[in-house]
Amino acid sequence: MTKRRPEGYIKGRPLKPESLMMTYGYKPELSEGSLKCPIFQTSTFVFKSAEEGKAFFEIAYGLREQGPKEELGLIYSRLNNPDLEILEDRLCLWDGADSAAVFESGMAAISTLAFEFLRPGTVVLHSEPIYGGTEYFFRHILPRYGIKAVGFPAGADEKALEKAARAAGRVAMIFVETPSNPTNKLVDIRACAHVAKKLSTKENRVTVAVDNTFLGPLWQHPLKLGADFVLYSATKFIGGHSDVIAGVCLGGAEDMKRVRTLRTFLGTLSGPWNGWLLLRSLETLKLRMTCQMKNAQKVADFLADHPKVEKVYYLGHLEEGSAQRKVYERQCLAPGSMISFDIKGGEKQAFKFLNSLELFSLAVSLGGTESLAEHPGTMTHSDVPPADQARMGITPKMVRLSIGVENPEDLIADLTQALDSV
Ligand SMILES: *Cc1c(COP(=O)(O)O)cnc(C)c1O
Repeated sequence: MTKRRPEGYIKGRPLKPESLMMTYGYKPELSEGSLKCPIFQTSTFVFKSAEEGKAFFEIAYGLREQGPKEELGLIYSRLNNPDLEILEDRLCLWDGADSAAVFESGMAAISTLAFEFLRPGTVVLHSEPIYGGTEYFFRHILPRYGIKAVGFPAGADEKALEKAARAAGRVAMIFVETPSNPTNKLVDIRACAHVAKKLSTKENRVTVAVDNTFLGPLWQHPLKLGADFVLYSATKFIGGHSDVIAGVCLGGAEDMKRVRTLRTFLGTLSGPWNGWLLLRSLETLKLRMTCQMKNAQKVADFLADHPKVEKVYYLGHLEEGSAQRKVYERQCLAPGSMISFDIKGGEKQAFKFLNSLELFSLAVSLGGTESLAEHPGTMTHSDVPPADQARMGITPKMVRLSIGVENPEDLIADLTQALDSV
């Protein structure tokens, strides 16, 4: 007899994702009893018989309907691999998704989804500002395939969003990043889903895709708010240790079948070693993100009271009763751990501050265990023209912080001495 392991429930009681991150989807009896999932460092898998190989390919290539109890067998590591399949099963738990697909990077997830759900003559309507890599892909790569990108400002209400969508042309996807980077402006996901529904016709379905890298998978669940897809740069909070590049796309079963098929042919699937590292990261996801969020609260309060700080952009400080605060209360569970602020002065003062930090590292990226600081105007958002930066609220005096798991008093001590040096 094999001892039972939880499959999501104990006597009908659903278990929380953090309780399942160590065991879910993995069967030790298939791996010599190994407690932890081994790294399946193999390019190909042995079939038990020729008949089995034939059946696996029929399913993989959609040559016939999959039987109700039939699972896609292991064939070749560009199609699937145990480390990645277990990782995908575990990622589904946080977002309440039917299905997940892991990619070699966040950009691989975004580009594969876009190529599957956009066609020549269609438009991707996206919130602004948006991650630099995504912006470049939308503005410079997609037009080569006859796909246009049109932006709308993060913070627009449903009416303004619908107006922008109707003016944009044949919208096939509304792509949002919320909160926006680096200004922490929220996009109303439910409003996007309403507009997408209104605009959808039999011939032209409008999907909603949310890049949930900044708040997810803990603090925001876009699928529950009506989005069709959730995307992550798993390089950030999911990986969480600034040592892996990876991405994820999650959504409904039928849609994800399409995403996975294109992933097979673009070859954008991640490898077993990355999959194993991410499985390890998921075990501490809640611990890390909770600690980072609590640290960020203390840091943001400190900055808001500092005489050399002009303005703090932080979800925990949204004004009571404001439209943004209402969106926050509807769609976010906590303010996360990304803070931007304007230092009094300009670029010179911002640079002096950044060069004086000791515990914070001066680096782009975010969501890792260590605290990072950067200057969006000249680093992450340097290819956004100055006029557009100004329109989006990215100022030369703006600094962006990603708060890690260090002692919060030590972080504040570092910020204090760096601000004193300005
Ligand atoms: C980092 C990032 C990406 C790109 O992810 P990669 O893993 O670097 O490819 C996309 N969106 C957001 C919001 C990001 O922060």
